[in-house]
Amino acid sequence: MKLTKRNYFSKKANKEYMSVSQFKAFSKCPAAALAEIKGKYKRDVTTALLVGSYVDSYFEGTLEIFKKKNPEIFKKDGSLKADYTQANLIIQRILADKLFSEYLSGQKQVIMTGNICGVPVKIKIDSLHDDKIVDLKVMASLDNVYTDDNGFCPFFEAWEYDLQGAVYQEIVRQNTGKKLPFYLAAATKEKVTDIDIVHIPQDTLDLALDRFKRDIEAFDAMKKGIIKPDRCEKCEYCKTTKVLTVPTEADEYYLL
Ligand SMILES: [Zn+2]
Repeated sequence: MKLTKRNYFSKKANKEYMSVSQFKAFSKCPAAALAEIKGKYKRDVTTALLVGSYVDSYFEGTLEIFKKKNPEIFKKDGSLKADYTQANLIIQRILADKLFSEYLSGQKQVIMTGNICGVPVKIKIDSLHDDKIVDLKVMASLDNVYTDDNGFCPFFEAWEYDLQGAVYQEIVRQNTGKKLPFYLAAATKEKVTDIDIVHIPQDTLDLALDRFKRDIEAFDAMKKGIIKPDRCEKCEYCKTTKVLTVPTEADEYYLL
């Protein structure tokens, strides 16, 4: 299957190729990830996610199409809801910065496919230059984030943007023969937007690629129905599909 902008997010493309977001979904809850691929479960599109897509689509040059596709971003009187008025301010802040704008000025939304550990992988790059890969991120803040596994860590590790960088770098290398550095172009949704261009070091990307390689075959086997996916029993999908068979002993609640 040849991937295009039109079919990149299609059910068929998601079945045939592993993506970074799919991989992350499998890491969280394999059962939910698989149900999503099969079209049996749909994650909620949150406003936070939609604000990010709004900014993305501006820099991709497809904001008008985005507005037509997402009428929920408008109020009844036809003006933008507050979150998207703020998204416009984020865009203005980005445009006002020379370095940020330059990093976003590469080839937009470049689709590539490759192969990691025998599994077909697809990527879509926000801004590809001859000498670097740049991904635009609109996020709550640039502060460190608390995670259950690692305590406080930098936002790019907490949100696993290192994993994205690692996979992008590897697939670009397979397609072009060049191993390019990876940068995050980050802008925040705070009252006053903060911006930064963050270079993710190579050893962080190497570790993240190892993590991807460690689990990709198992996740692919789940997609193919060879391995049964585990349930996390915590996510919305697991709650929705939970079937009670026996009562729970109260003791178990003390362990949670
Ligand atoms: Zn789950």
